[in-house]
Amino acid sequence: MSTKEERRQKVIEVLNKARSMELQAIHQYMNQHYNLDDMDYGELAAKMKLIAIDEMRHAEAFAERVKELGGEPTDHLSKPVAKGQKIDVIYRYDAGEEDDTIDVYNQFLLVCRENGDSISVKLLETIIDEEQAHFNYFDAVKDHIGNLGDTYLSRIAGTSSSTGLAPQGFVITGQD
Ligand code: FE
Ligand code: FE
Repeated sequence: MSTKEERRQKVIEVLNKARSMELQAIHQYMNQHYNLDDMDYGELAAKMKLIAIDEMRHAEAFAERVKELGGEPTDHLSKPVAKGQKIDVIYRYDAGEEDDTIDVYNQFLLVCRENGDSISVKLLETIIDEEQAHFNYFDAVKDHIGNLGDTYLSRIAGTSSSTGLAPQGFVITGQD
């Protein structure tokens, strides 16, 4: 039987692995966001930006739980960012990434459960639901590009890249 401290360290380890995957996803999706914007696929760029923001919330949530457990949140990226992807590659790649993430997070959830941390189990359950929503979206766009090709993309070209969100940040919102 492992000690409480040993169990806690195992949970911190998987939460930090998850955080490093989120940090990589943030940078990956930001990279794709500005490339899609540059290609003038505004609607796709806007959704990609919103998904990058989701991943930032995930990275923060994992860090907050790591801190609660007395650990140090990692700033390590799980792998390098893939750059210069063509549009058909982007959506195949991202659907694969989300599918892998769901699988890995389910493994991490079991580690948290085995080590008696129900709070981290709940956190992972919530985040897995959101990764599923990301997968569903990426998979749908991937299918549209595969099935409709230029017919689909010509509808997207030139659309607005507005996210519909008021821009937020320390200076813009005037918080002090
Ligand atoms: Fe995420
Ligand atoms: Fe995701």
